[in-house]
Amino acid sequence: MQEISCEELLQHLSDYIDNNLDEELTAVAQHHLATCPNCRIVLNSTQKTITLFREQGKRTIPAERRDRLFNQLQAAFLTGRETIS
Ligand SMILES: [Zn+2]
Repeated sequence: MQEISCEELLQHLSDYIDNNLDEELTAVAQHHLATCPNCRIVLNSTQKTITLFREQGKRTIPAERRDRLFNQLQAAFLTGRETIS
């Protein structure tokens, strides 16, 4: 099984949520998420935001809004990890 870093996972996360990854990459992402609590937190936050938008009748989050959310999550995630190490 191919291993990916947290940074790589974050790059694929929105595609993962949208089911836009190919089978192999989905499996790799699932494996990473199964072993990495930090990335699971980021995934949950991102999914919640997407769910909120869908409940408001918007089928998808505007790309720019999602990018901004994603950057915030990524920054928080990377900052948190620096604090831990
Ligand atoms: Zn991770």
